[in-house]
Amino acid sequence: METHSCGARVPENAQWCPLCLESVVDTDALLGELHDTFQKTTWAPPEVLLAPSPPPVHSRWRAGPRSFGLRVKLALTFMSVGVTALAVKMFGFFFVAPLIIVTALLMYSTWTRERIR
Ligand SMILES: [Zn+2]
Repeated sequence: METHSCGARVPENAQWCPLCLESVVDTDALLGELHDTFQKTTWAPPEVLLAPSPPPVHSRWRAGPRSFGLRVKLALTFMSVGVTALAVKMFGFFFVAPLIIVTALLMYSTWTRERIR
């Protein structure tokens, strides 16, 4: 005799509970079936996830996610250097010194090598 979840005493090998008429489940067999199901799993990660990542590529000339291409870099250079040179011609080096520093920093960050891939 064993006790069903409803509290009724159920004889061994009974198909259902005499009180609530629910079919009696063999919990050990159910657990074994569950383990078998999980052991049959054959999932493996796709090759894309296991492949080593390609080596990084750096470039000064080609565009990347964080850098402009050659055309934009040349346009930036001609604009900023041109404006700075014009300002130097008009006002002299002394008064344009801050702009020269800003232009130098801009050119450094524009033309520095950046990771493109
Ligand atoms: Zn029952």
